[in-house]
Amino acid sequence: MNTLRVAMVSVHACPLAKLGGRDSGGMNVYVRELARDLGKRGIEVDVFTRWREKDDPRIQQIGANARVVHIPSGPIGYWPKMAVYEHLEEFTSKLLEFVEHEGRSYDIVHAHYWLSAKVARTLEQRWKLPVVQMFHTLGLVKREVMDEDVDGESDIRIDVEREAVRKSAAIVAASEIELGELRRLYRADAARVAVIPCGVDPTVFHPVRQADAREALGRDQCERLILFVGRIEQIKGIDVLLRAMGLLFQLYPDLRSDVCLLVVGGALDPGDDEPETEKILELRRLVHEHRMESNVAFVGSRGQEELALYYAAADVCAVPSLTESFGLVALEAMACGTPVVGTRVGGLQTVIENGESGLLVPAGDYRALAEAIARVLMDARLRIHLAHGARDRAEHFTWERVGDRIVELYDRVRTEHREKIAL
Ligand code: UDP
Repeated sequence: MNTLRVAMVSVHACPLAKLGGRDSGGMNVYVRELARDLGKRGIEVDVFTRWREKDDPRIQQIGANARVVHIPSGPIGYWPKMAVYEHLEEFTSKLLEFVEHEGRSYDIVHAHYWLSAKVARTLEQRWKLPVVQMFHTLGLVKREVMDEDVDGESDIRIDVEREAVRKSAAIVAASEIELGELRRLYRADAARVAVIPCGVDPTVFHPVRQADAREALGRDQCERLILFVGRIEQIKGIDVLLRAMGLLFQLYPDLRSDVCLLVVGGALDPGDDEPETEKILELRRLVHEHRMESNVAFVGSRGQEELALYYAAADVCAVPSLTESFGLVALEAMACGTPVVGTRVGGLQTVIENGESGLLVPAGDYRALAEAIARVLMDARLRIHLAHGARDRAEHFTWERVGDRIVELYDRVRTEHREKIAL
C-alpha cells in the first residue's frame, strides 16, 4: 500500500510557536499533536505554516514522518490576522513552489482555521484533492458573544468560512455544540461534519502531589490557589474572573489573606507582543480597583511541562471563557486531577460534567463564578469528588483517539473522492 501523504495547512498556527502568547494556543497544540500521532502511524505529514520567527529553520522535523515547513510570506514577525490574510496569495504560491521543487505529491489537504481555508481552495483546485477543514473558532460565533468587534472578525472571514463549509469534503468539529453552530450559522450539511473531540497528553499532564508542585514553583506561601491559563484576550473572560474574585473577598473577607490567583499566559517581556501587554495593564487596573494586588499575579506564558505543575499546584482552575470551541486548558487541568469551574459554553460543556468532573456556570456571570469557586475552595469533599471525576473523565480524551478518528475520516473522504472522480 502506498504511504498516505497529508498536506496540513496551518498558516496562522505554527506547531513550534511559544504557547499562550497572542494568537498561539490550542490550535498550535492540536496541529502539533495530530501531526505527530499521524506520523507515528506511518502517514507522512507536512505542516505548512507562515514563517513568523526569524530563528526558526525552513524545515523542522517534529516527529517520525512529520515536518513543519515554514513558508515565507511578507516580513517575518507577529502580524494581526488581517495582515496575514493580505499575504495569502504569496503564501500559496510559495507553498506550491516548494512542493513542486521537492517533487512531492499529497493525498489529502487538511486545513486549520479560516486563513488556511482560503489557501485550501487553491490547493483543492490545483491538486484535485479533497479538503478536510477544521475551524477551531468560527467568526459568527465570536460575533455573537463579543460586545464589540474587537478582534476584527471581518465579513471577509465569514465569507471564507461559508465557502469552506460549502466546498470542503469534510469538516471536523470539536464538539456537538460546534456541529450545531455550523448548522445554525453556516447551514452546514451535518453528514459532512465529523465530531471529533480533542485530546490531552497524559505523559505531560498527570497528577503531582500539590505540595510538591507548589514547592517546585516556589508558590508555597498561598493557602488556596486559583489558576487561570490561556491567551490574555477578552474572549477568555479574565475580567469576569477578576470581578468574581473581588466579590469573593467581599462575601468572605477572611479569604483575602489566603487566596491567590495565578494568571498564566500572555507575553510579559517588554516589546514582545505589545497589544497583549496593554490588555494585562487593563486587567491590573481592575486588580487595583478591587484591592487585590497581593492576591493576583500575572506570571506570563509557560511551557507545557511547567504548566502541568501549575495545574497540580492549584485547588481550582477557572475557565471563564465567553466562547470556547473545545477548551484544552480545562481538559489538561482535569488530567492533572484539578477541579475546573468553567462556563457553560461550546466544548467546555461537553468535557465537564457539572457536579461530577467540575462545575459549570453561565458565561459572563461573575456572581455565579464567585459562588462556584467558593464552593470548590471551601468544601473539601466536593473538591475531592470533582478531582476524581475530572481525572476519570480526562482519560477518555487522548490524541491517539483523535488520530484514530481522523484516519477513519481520511479513508472515507478519499473513497468518496475516488467515487466522484469515477462518475
Ligand atoms: N498554553 C501554554 N502555555 C501558556 C498558556 C497556554 O502551553 O502559557 C497552552 C495550553 O496548555 C493549551 C493551549 O495553550 O494547550 C490553549 O488551548 P485552549 O483550547 O484552552 O485555548 P485556545 O488557545 O485554543 O483558545
